[in-house]
Amino acid sequence: MDTFPKNRFRRLRKNKKLRDLTSETDLSPENLVYPIFVDENLNERKEIPEMPGQYTYPLSEIINVGEELVDLKIPAVLIFGIPSRKDPFGSSAYAEDGVVQKAVRLLKDTFADELLVITDLCLCEYTDHGHCGIVKNGKVLNDETLEIYGKIAVSQAGAGADIIAPSGMMDGMVLAIREALDREGFSDVPIMSYAVKYNSVLYTPFRYAAQSAPKFGDRSSYQMDIRNSDEALREAKADLEEGADILMVKPSFLDIIYRIKSELKVPTATYCVSGEYVMLKASSVYFDERRSVLEYHTCRKRAGADIIITYYAKDIARWLKD
Ligand SMILES: [Zn+2]
Repeated sequence: MDTFPKNRFRRLRKNKKLRDLTSETDLSPENLVYPIFVDENLNERKEIPEMPGQYTYPLSEIINVGEELVDLKIPAVLIFGIPSRKDPFGSSAYAEDGVVQKAVRLLKDTFADELLVITDLCLCEYTDHGHCGIVKNGKVLNDETLEIYGKIAVSQAGAGADIIAPSGMMDGMVLAIREALDREGFSDVPIMSYAVKYNSVLYTPFRYAAQSAPKFGDRSSYQMDIRNSDEALREAKADLEEGADILMVKPSFLDIIYRIKSELKVPTATYCVSGEYVMLKASSVYFDERRSVLEYHTCRKRAGADIIITYYAKDIARWLKD
């Protein structure tokens, strides 16, 4: 057909200014969250062998991390704590002087509104058995765990956390936390729920870092089967109904991000997890790390992620600046 318009698609691609002008997606530091591990047992930062370039930090270095993020215009940090003592109930997760509570206070006292502090809420880093809840006769008890989650949320909000991010995947978790927060005068503290959390091999490096690998069994009874996607929608809807303000997809599976964002139309976050970080690192042997990382994260944005939690946050912010 000779009437087909010439250069129809190429016209807007012919130079960078035109491409930038018409681009549908822009990755920006403002959308990034940097996850960090704070370890009460450390005196100086320690590289995580399974995650080259990532560290666990002592409380004494947390301000340095905050400064770096503020300088790079990264608006938020997600904190995981590694306590000095663990017990079957994870009681140091809701202690007034718990490692996360101390970290939050330090950051909020120093940076106030310059940095949002998000706290991960789970028990697996705090229990001696490594499961995300209370265990009896080898089983994780749902309802007993919810009560403890409520306590943790209140203590994190009390320390000054801006967003509570429950990651435990217990049934009724978001509602229990919402009610506990509201009851204690924290009704303005939003919840970012790990609404869709697949039972994935990609968490393996993190579990070494957070020292949270379960001592027995696995998490398949409360994490999602990677073969399912309608189920992800059902989980996410349930969390919304229970009061979640932001829904998170983990790992950052593109089809799931797309479905959550396009079908539920709520603020959507995704977590590019430790295994994704390690895959990108490893692939830098074969192709340019900067390009591959920017492409990878831009695709998450294009799929619908408003918020991207990533170990590459600082690199991305630096790369986008030059
Ligand atoms: Zn957990």
